[in-house]
Amino acid sequence: MTTKSLSQGAPKATKNAGKSVAKEGEEILLASDMIRLGARLQVLQAETSLSYDRLSRLYREIKGCSPPKGMLPFSVDWFMTWLPNIHSSVFYGVYRYLDNYTPAKKTRALIEAYRLYLEQASVGRPANSDEEPVLSFTRAWMLIRFFESGLVQLSHCTRCTGGFIAHAHDPQHDFVCAICRPPPRAGKTRNRKAHAL
Ligand SMILES: [Zn+2]
Repeated sequence: MTTKSLSQGAPKATKNAGKSVAKEGEEILLASDMIRLGARLQVLQAETSLSYDRLSRLYREIKGCSPPKGMLPFSVDWFMTWLPNIHSSVFYGVYRYLDNYTPAKKTRALIEAYRLYLEQASVGRPANSDEEPVLSFTRAWMLIRFFESGLVQLSHCTRCTGGFIAHAHDPQHDFVCAICRPPPRAGKTRNRKAHAL
Protein backbone atom coordinates (compact mmCIF):
# COMPACT_ATOMS: atom_id res chain seq x y z
CA MET A 1 0.00 0.00 0.00
CA THR A 2 1.45 3.32 -0.96
CA THR A 3 -0.17 5.94 1.17
CA LYS A 4 2.44 8.67 1.14
CA SER A 5 1.32 10.50 -1.99
CA LEU A 6 -2.25 10.76 -0.72
CA SER A 7 -1.54 11.66 2.86
CA GLN A 8 0.59 14.59 1.81
CA GLY A 9 -2.58 16.52 1.17
CA ALA A 10 -3.70 16.27 4.80
CA PRO A 11 -1.79 18.61 7.05
CA LYS A 12 -4.54 18.28 9.66
CA ALA A 13 -3.83 14.56 10.17
CA THR A 14 -1.07 15.38 12.63
CA LYS A 15 -3.48 17.13 14.99
CA ASN A 16 -5.27 13.94 16.04
CA ALA A 17 -3.76 13.79 19.50
CA GLY A 18 -6.05 15.20 22.16
CA LYS A 19 -9.08 15.42 19.90
CA SER A 20 -12.43 14.98 21.63
CA VAL A 21 -14.39 11.80 21.07
CA ALA A 22 -17.52 13.77 20.21
CA LYS A 23 -15.65 15.72 17.55
CA GLU A 24 -14.23 12.53 16.14
CA GLY A 25 -17.68 10.94 16.06
CA GLU A 26 -18.99 13.94 14.19
CA GLU A 27 -16.19 13.70 11.65
CA ILE A 28 -16.82 9.98 11.13
CA LEU A 29 -20.46 10.76 10.40
CA LEU A 30 -19.48 13.48 7.94
CA ALA A 31 -16.95 11.21 6.25
CA SER A 32 -19.51 8.37 6.05
CA ASP A 33 -22.04 10.66 4.38
CA MET A 34 -19.43 11.82 1.91
CA ILE A 35 -18.30 8.26 1.10
CA ARG A 36 -21.90 7.24 0.37
CA LEU A 37 -22.21 10.18 -2.02
CA GLY A 38 -19.07 9.06 -3.87
CA ALA A 39 -16.33 11.22 -2.32
CA ARG A 40 -12.73 10.36 -3.06
CA LEU A 41 -10.33 9.84 -0.18
CA GLN A 42 -8.50 13.12 -0.82
CA VAL A 43 -11.78 14.97 -0.25
CA LEU A 44 -12.33 13.20 3.07
CA GLN A 45 -8.79 14.07 4.13
CA ALA A 46 -9.32 17.72 3.33
CA GLU A 47 -12.69 17.95 5.07
CA THR A 48 -11.91 16.03 8.26
CA SER A 49 -8.91 15.59 10.53
CA LEU A 50 -9.24 11.79 10.54
CA SER A 51 -6.13 9.85 9.63
CA TYR A 52 -5.59 8.26 6.24
CA ASP A 53 -5.79 4.79 7.79
CA ARG A 54 -9.07 5.48 9.56
CA LEU A 55 -10.58 7.00 6.47
CA SER A 56 -9.57 4.17 4.18
CA ARG A 57 -10.90 1.62 6.70
CA LEU A 58 -14.18 3.53 6.88
CA TYR A 59 -14.25 3.64 3.07
CA ARG A 60 -13.81 -0.12 2.80
CA GLU A 61 -16.47 -0.79 5.45
CA ILE A 62 -19.03 1.34 3.63
CA LYS A 63 -18.16 0.64 -0.01
CA GLY A 64 -16.85 -2.91 0.35
CA CYS A 65 -13.79 -2.06 -1.76
CA SER A 66 -10.59 -0.05 -1.53
CA PRO A 67 -10.73 3.65 -2.32
CA PRO A 68 -9.65 4.50 -5.87
CA LYS A 69 -6.15 5.86 -6.31
CA GLY A 70 -4.95 8.64 -8.50
CA MET A 71 -5.35 12.33 -9.05
CA LEU A 72 -8.55 14.27 -8.52
CA PRO A 73 -10.16 15.72 -11.65
CA PHE A 74 -8.53 19.12 -11.69
CA SER A 75 -10.03 21.07 -14.54
CA VAL A 76 -11.73 24.43 -14.39
CA ASP A 77 -12.63 24.15 -18.07
CA TRP A 78 -14.83 21.12 -17.43
CA PHE A 79 -17.26 23.39 -15.55
CA MET A 80 -17.54 25.67 -18.57
CA THR A 81 -18.78 23.05 -21.00
CA TRP A 82 -22.46 23.08 -21.74
CA LEU A 83 -24.12 20.33 -19.68
CA PRO A 84 -21.61 20.33 -16.79
CA ASN A 85 -22.06 24.10 -16.55
CA ILE A 86 -25.81 23.80 -16.11
CA HIS A 87 -25.56 20.98 -13.56
CA SER A 88 -22.76 22.66 -11.60
CA SER A 89 -24.55 25.99 -11.55
CA VAL A 90 -27.67 24.36 -10.13
CA PHE A 91 -25.58 22.63 -7.48
CA TYR A 92 -23.65 25.76 -6.57
CA GLY A 93 -26.80 27.83 -6.26
CA VAL A 94 -28.19 25.37 -3.71
CA TYR A 95 -24.87 25.15 -1.87
CA ARG A 96 -24.56 28.90 -1.53
CA TYR A 97 -28.11 29.23 -0.30
CA LEU A 98 -27.65 26.52 2.35
CA ASP A 99 -24.28 27.87 3.47
CA ASN A 100 -25.60 31.44 3.76
CA TYR A 101 -29.11 31.01 5.07
CA THR A 102 -29.40 27.69 6.93
CA PRO A 103 -27.60 26.07 9.87
CA ALA A 104 -25.86 23.74 7.37
CA LYS A 105 -22.42 25.25 6.82
CA LYS A 106 -19.37 24.29 4.78
CA THR A 107 -18.99 20.49 4.61
CA ARG A 108 -22.55 19.92 5.85
CA ALA A 109 -23.85 22.41 3.29
CA LEU A 110 -21.86 20.59 0.60
CA ILE A 111 -23.42 17.25 1.57
CA GLU A 112 -26.98 18.60 1.76
CA ALA A 113 -26.62 20.57 -1.46
CA TYR A 114 -25.25 17.55 -3.29
CA ARG A 115 -28.17 15.41 -2.09
CA LEU A 116 -30.62 18.02 -3.35
CA TYR A 117 -28.71 18.21 -6.63
CA LEU A 118 -28.98 14.41 -7.05
CA GLU A 119 -32.72 14.60 -6.45
CA GLN A 120 -33.09 17.29 -9.10
CA ALA A 121 -30.74 15.60 -11.55
CA SER A 122 -32.67 12.33 -11.37
CA VAL A 123 -36.05 13.91 -12.14
CA GLY A 124 -37.41 12.29 -15.28
CA ARG A 125 -35.04 9.34 -15.13
CA PRO A 126 -36.25 5.79 -14.56
CA ALA A 127 -36.07 5.00 -10.84
CA ASN A 128 -33.69 2.09 -11.37
CA SER A 129 -31.29 4.04 -13.57
CA ASP A 130 -27.64 3.41 -12.69
CA GLU A 131 -26.48 6.33 -14.76
CA GLU A 132 -23.75 8.41 -13.12
CA PRO A 133 -24.77 11.96 -12.30
CA VAL A 134 -23.15 14.59 -14.53
CA LEU A 135 -21.61 16.29 -11.50
CA SER A 136 -19.80 13.89 -9.18
CA PHE A 137 -19.45 14.64 -5.47
CA THR A 138 -15.71 15.10 -5.86
CA ARG A 139 -16.19 17.60 -8.68
CA ALA A 140 -18.79 19.44 -6.61
CA TRP A 141 -16.18 19.72 -3.87
CA MET A 142 -13.56 20.89 -6.39
CA LEU A 143 -15.96 23.55 -7.63
CA ILE A 144 -16.25 25.05 -4.16
CA ARG A 145 -12.44 25.06 -3.92
CA PHE A 146 -12.29 26.85 -7.28
CA PHE A 147 -14.68 29.52 -6.00
CA GLU A 148 -12.67 29.91 -2.81
CA SER A 149 -9.45 30.34 -4.73
CA GLY A 150 -10.99 32.86 -7.11
CA LEU A 151 -10.63 30.79 -10.29
CA VAL A 152 -14.32 30.95 -11.14
CA GLN A 153 -17.14 33.41 -10.60
CA LEU A 154 -20.91 33.45 -10.81
CA SER A 155 -22.11 35.42 -13.85
CA HIS A 156 -25.73 36.48 -14.08
CA CYS A 157 -27.58 35.82 -17.30
CA THR A 158 -28.98 38.98 -18.89
CA ARG A 159 -32.03 37.01 -20.13
CA CYS A 160 -33.10 34.69 -17.29
CA THR A 161 -31.09 36.42 -14.49
CA GLY A 162 -29.88 33.04 -13.20
CA GLY A 163 -26.36 32.75 -11.76
CA PHE A 164 -23.99 30.55 -13.80
CA ILE A 165 -20.41 29.46 -13.35
CA ALA A 166 -17.89 31.32 -15.49
CA HIS A 167 -14.15 31.87 -15.55
CA ALA A 168 -13.05 34.54 -13.10
CA HIS A 169 -12.84 37.97 -14.72
CA ASP A 170 -14.95 36.99 -17.73
CA PRO A 171 -16.94 40.04 -18.85
CA GLN A 172 -20.42 39.91 -17.31
CA HIS A 173 -22.33 42.80 -18.84
CA ASP A 174 -23.72 40.83 -21.82
CA PHE A 175 -23.52 37.32 -20.37
CA VAL A 176 -26.10 34.84 -21.64
CA CYS A 177 -26.25 31.43 -19.96
CA ALA A 178 -26.00 27.95 -21.47
CA ILE A 179 -29.74 27.36 -21.08
CA CYS A 180 -30.86 30.57 -22.81
CA ARG A 181 -28.28 30.15 -25.57
CA PRO A 182 -27.28 26.50 -25.90
CA PRO A 183 -24.38 25.86 -28.27
CA PRO A 184 -25.37 24.69 -31.78
CA ARG A 185 -24.16 21.20 -30.99
CA ALA A 186 -25.44 21.10 -27.41
CA GLY A 187 -24.27 18.01 -25.62
CA LYS A 188 -20.85 17.86 -27.26
CA THR A 189 -18.50 18.80 -24.49
CA ARG A 190 -15.77 20.26 -26.64
CA ASN A 191 -17.48 23.56 -27.09
CA ARG A 192 -15.10 25.98 -25.35
CA LYS A 193 -15.87 29.62 -25.02
CA ALA A 194 -13.28 31.75 -26.79
CA HIS A 195 -13.44 35.13 -25.19
CA ALA A 196 -11.66 37.96 -26.88
CA LEU A 197 -10.66 40.11 -23.96
ZN1 LIG B 1 -30.20 32.47 -18.98
